[in-house]
Amino acid sequence: MAADAAQRVEELRAQIAHHDRRYYELDDPEVTDADYDALLRELRELEARHPELITPDSPTQRVSGAPSSLFAPVRHLVPMMSLDNAMNLDELQAWAGRIARVDPEALQADFACELKIDGLAMSLTYEGGRFVRAATRGDGVTGEDVTANVATIAAVPKRLRWPQGRGRVPAVIEVRGEVYMPVSAFEELNKRQVDAGQKTFANPRNSAAGSLRQKDASITASRELSFWSYQVGALEGGPDIARQSQALEVLRRSGLPVNPENTVVHGIDEVYAFCTRWREHRHDLDYEIDGVVVKVDDLALQRRLGATSHAPRWAVAFKFPPEERITKLRDIMVSIGRTGRATPFAVLEPVFVGGSTVGLATLHNEDQVALKDVRPGDTVVVRKAGDVIPEVVGPVLSERPKRSRPWVFPTTCPSCGSPLVRLPGESDTFCTNLECPMQRVQRIVHFASRSAMDIEGLGEKRVVQLVEAGLLSDPADLYRLRRDELVALERMADISTDNLLGAIESSKDRPLSRVLVALGIRHLGPTGARALARTFGTFEAIRGAPVEDLAAVEGIGSVIADSVAEFLQSPHNRAVLDKLVGAGLTLSEPGVPDGTGARRQAGPAGRGVPRADGSGAEQSLAGKSVVVTGTLPDFTREEAEEAILARGGKSPGSVSAKTFALVLGTEPGTAKLRKAEELGIPVVDGARFPDLLESGEIPEG
Ligand code: NAD
Repeated sequence: MAADAAQRVEELRAQIAHHDRRYYELDDPEVTDADYDALLRELRELEARHPELITPDSPTQRVSGAPSSLFAPVRHLVPMMSLDNAMNLDELQAWAGRIARVDPEALQADFACELKIDGLAMSLTYEGGRFVRAATRGDGVTGEDVTANVATIAAVPKRLRWPQGRGRVPAVIEVRGEVYMPVSAFEELNKRQVDAGQKTFANPRNSAAGSLRQKDASITASRELSFWSYQVGALEGGPDIARQSQALEVLRRSGLPVNPENTVVHGIDEVYAFCTRWREHRHDLDYEIDGVVVKVDDLALQRRLGATSHAPRWAVAFKFPPEERITKLRDIMVSIGRTGRATPFAVLEPVFVGGSTVGLATLHNEDQVALKDVRPGDTVVVRKAGDVIPEVVGPVLSERPKRSRPWVFPTTCPSCGSPLVRLPGESDTFCTNLECPMQRVQRIVHFASRSAMDIEGLGEKRVVQLVEAGLLSDPADLYRLRRDELVALERMADISTDNLLGAIESSKDRPLSRVLVALGIRHLGPTGARALARTFGTFEAIRGAPVEDLAAVEGIGSVIADSVAEFLQSPHNRAVLDKLVGAGLTLSEPGVPDGTGARRQAGPAGRGVPRADGSGAEQSLAGKSVVVTGTLPDFTREEAEEAILARGGKSPGSVSAKTFALVLGTEPGTAKLRKAEELGIPVVDGARFPDLLESGEIPEG
């Protein structure tokens, strides 16, 4: 047994050493952090059960990483350590218990809570206020000299401001912090890589590390890196600092960027509340965080608590659940959408990532599969961040089976067998057979979906059943379904039949704007559909309008107008639309008197742009852009947006210099709020939103 343990310990150490090199030296990890952490945890547990196997050079006993020979070595004035982790409230409490046993004063401690920036640890040295050196963490004792590279980062001041009242600028101050790449810069960089046909970066952390550790500093300069400082290392001369929170204040006043989202709290419950809040809001930020760092605020207590061989005892990293995992790619298949678009997707061995179990992930199109070169049988990295749909990041090449071959896009539709067509210059491939059963199914599923006709109980499985039974061939057939036909089907009891028929019946009253969305007209989204419905009032008015009148509606333009006109003229669609009219759908927009009045406003083609209002509401917000964040007391997000649009305003998703006001609900997005504050945009309390709607002015007080 002990021999087995010894062997496994050796295996784990070898694997960890391999991954450390890929991660710290080559900036090209093969496995995700969660999978790497699992190896380290297993090793730690084995060593706990067999303490005789612990060696000083075990990765559990030292700071991981090693300085590479690419850069000159720098010996740190104070070692740069790692952090112990806590994954949940129990582990946070266990940490608090451990430090209280070392020093009972820790029971009363205040804790500084900071975001754990997912970047690259950096030590900056300032002598007499001048930036003289930057070094990576390396093995914690010796780092790499990356001064020239860090000098290209605009956020790093080359000279400290020192108007700090008492005391002179310190002879030496060593600033610890994190170099990171903003998410927006990362996305831009990857877009450029795709355009240049080059490999994309896996995540912002790797692209920050790869961009920084370049022999040629001009490459670093071309990448948009930034920096947050969070600690004072060595300090000679300068102010007395008694608390971590005070250290942050000193750093901030000397011109160094300090992340604003930090706080001091008392007790582990408050620490945990901060951690859970940021676990929910991590994607509101334009930089990645992978947890919260909790530090004992009192520096004297920190010194008494000291450190283990690899991490300080006075701090712990509360880690968020992983958003990347590795798993097996079982197969690549192609799905057919309602427009006939053929989308490849990965069938995965289910894996828990980003808070849910993922078994399928889109691969977008043929070029994306080729660029990522993922193949059935590969081990792949899967990413799921926030509300974003799961994504296959790429293969783990070292795990690729021998004799594997690149995946080839099919030439025929998996549903109807017609040839798949990809036009020159386009990235998408299409099944062009309008009768294709899968397209039919998807058109009906879309028609019934929540944001369209909202017919409950009509999911994909049910639609497939009805299409296969020959009861549906287009969405209008829904309104011809008979009770006796339905109850005869499998899995259709009396109650579910009645419920389905009831849901279909009540969908007849959906506003025209929803019906337009439900039809799935290319390029026409919910905003455009609302604009058309509010301008023309009825379906007949839209049908009868010349394309120029459609294009003249604000927010429509010629591309959408052409697409609508083309849709309305197609013989197949005309037949479906006539059936819908015949079925007795309301097909008008509430609050718009009738189509004709609105059309008169539109005037002859090309003259005078009609307003996308028609609702009769006062145009109090005409031309004004109002952004909403968080939850409002009496409005859902959609209702708030509708209310703004109905008053002639716009409701974009982000704050810019053109924003008239930011309406602030509970649990708001901090990025929007910060941007508004930066730009001096008025912020309106969510409870005053009705006043803003009514007056069109910023409510006072
Ligand atoms: P860590 O990254 O979990 O925590 C320590 C680091 O946190 C510090 O070095 C510092 O850079 C950073 N940090 C960010 N914000 C901070 C703040 N406000 N205050 C203090 N520090 C802050 O510890 P580590 O030892 O660097 O752990 C290694 C990490 O790298 C793990 O997440 C591990 O999964 C990953 N890793 C991955 C691979 C791989 O192959 N995928 C290999 C090696 C390491």
